[in-house]
Amino acid sequence: MTQQEIDVVVIGGGPVGLTAAGDLARLGRTVTVLERWPQINPSSRAFATMARTLEVLDNRGLADGLLELGTTTKTVSLFGGARLDLSRLPSRYPFALVTPQTNVDQALGQYATEQGATVLRGIEAIGVEQDADGVTVTAKEKDGDQRQVFRARYVIAADGAHSTVRQLLGVEFPGRASISSMVLADVKLSAGPADGGLALGNTSESFAFLAPYGRHDPDGSWFRSMTWDRGHQVADSVPVGEEEVVRVLNRSMGRDVGVVEVGWHSRFHSEERQIASYRAGRAFFAGDAAHIHSPMGGQGMNTGIQDAANLAWKLDAVLAGAPDAVLDTYQSERHPIGRRVLFQSGALVRAVTLHSAVTRKLRDVVAPLILSLPGVRDLVPGSFSGTGLRYGRRRGEHKLVGTRAPGLQQDLEWVLIIGREDIAPEGITVTRRTDDGPARLVRPDGYVAWAGSLEDADGWQGALARWTGGASTSGPKPTARPRPGRQAGGRTWPGGGGSDPGAARAGFFSL
Ligand SMILES: Cc1cc2nc3c(=O)[nH]c(=O)nc-3n(C[C@H](O)[C@H](O)[C@H](O)COP(=O)(O)OP(=O)(O)OC[C@H]3O[C@@H](n4cnc5c(N)ncnc54)[C@H](O)[C@@H]3O)c2cc1C
Repeated sequence: MTQQEIDVVVIGGGPVGLTAAGDLARLGRTVTVLERWPQINPSSRAFATMARTLEVLDNRGLADGLLELGTTTKTVSLFGGARLDLSRLPSRYPFALVTPQTNVDQALGQYATEQGATVLRGIEAIGVEQDADGVTVTAKEKDGDQRQVFRARYVIAADGAHSTVRQLLGVEFPGRASISSMVLADVKLSAGPADGGLALGNTSESFAFLAPYGRHDPDGSWFRSMTWDRGHQVADSVPVGEEEVVRVLNRSMGRDVGVVEVGWHSRFHSEERQIASYRAGRAFFAGDAAHIHSPMGGQGMNTGIQDAANLAWKLDAVLAGAPDAVLDTYQSERHPIGRRVLFQSGALVRAVTLHSAVTRKLRDVVAPLILSLPGVRDLVPGSFSGTGLRYGRRRGEHKLVGTRAPGLQQDLEWVLIIGREDIAPEGITVTRRTDDGPARLVRPDGYVAWAGSLEDADGWQGALARWTGGASTSGPKPTARPRPGRQAGGRTWPGGGGSDPGAARAGFFSL
């Protein structure tokens, strides 16, 4: 039995664990990922990567490569002609990327290893014990008896919906069943959605959702379908019939979608659950280990990747000397977002599965009207795509605090955005803006920590000290590998003088 001492053990090598591990390694931390399976999960679940996640991936040099592997869609069709219009999102990605989750997992896996994380596959965590100084994780070979012990300052539980760490630490996962007997299938269609994008169809008895794989051949194109039939509610173990897939697809879409072939298929159910506290001492829960809900609305992977991006830099900061309370902000910032995601996806499931003809009619009339209201038209797409989500702020703080800094590409570092002021603070990356908005201090995860006048007494330096405890703010350590697709230590807008292409875009940073 061997014992290794590191900064952070990440349990689970899905998209969430790999994001956290890549970030921590990039920041110079020693990090080991323990993943039960010998390779990346080959069954693609998620298809939609939303705008905010694409921004997060771009800051890690991964968005361009993923965009080449998928298609993009600017609208998501709902019911009664209601649509989510993503084209107005205030993002450099005003769309959703449609690409199988395996591609995202691969890219993040590469990111984690390139940054220097140790990713051990075929090994599962079987014990987690905490004490005042750290965490001891015991793991064993999946297909063998050899054991390893890891000693770390912190552990991230990114081990999915059936989290072992939750069970080992006795953390409850309260919630309820959401929807049962859904069928996933790969289908080749000769008459898929006209725009080739995401499509939802439903009747009072069924619904179907289609996402394109982007693979075309002369007979048709391949899609992943998700179908549900009110009249055929059976256990997950009951085999799926190809006839069932074709029947429910055609009925829900209201036409013959021309099924040429049905490939892999599987039946599953989903639940709505969220743990009460994302932190249990030195253990932090992220992704599906912390919250699960129906796949409707395409939120799970997106939310989990953003959990990881929120947590990793805070762990790095506290390891560097920031107050422990910084880690509590992971709960106060991410738990409300998780709750909101459960609410959104639950509302969508309930709207899609309405039974009574009267309420369905009402839904079909009211939903398009509500989604076209000026205040709502941008609010709902912003919420689903993550660009509209914000964190809280303290009393008296500028209203920009807690919002994301759109257009800013950064390297997991603190950035001070200033105007024409003639200052050149040291020890922090500075970028200039071209409009007259306030100066702002942006956290390594791209959210505004402070905004105001550079002359404020308790200004950006005060905010920075609260988050870092005065520790170094320089972002990736010299030992970190360059981000894939970027130059070593490359910063989009180097401190002190360069113009800010994001800001130049018609006051992109304006209030
Ligand atoms: C049909 C379907 C469609 C979906 N569509 C979307 C979508 O369009 N958009 C979206 O954002 N989300 C979607 N999701 C949700 C998305 O797939 C998940 O939210 C996402 O995979 C969660 O990532 P994770 O890293 O938290 O967990 P996982 O991907 O489940 O990874 C957890 C990992 O931990 C490993 N593990 C578990 N226990 C141990 C242990 N003891 N030791 C070591 N390793 C362990 C597992 O092997 C696994 O690899 C969909 C889900 C489904 C089912």
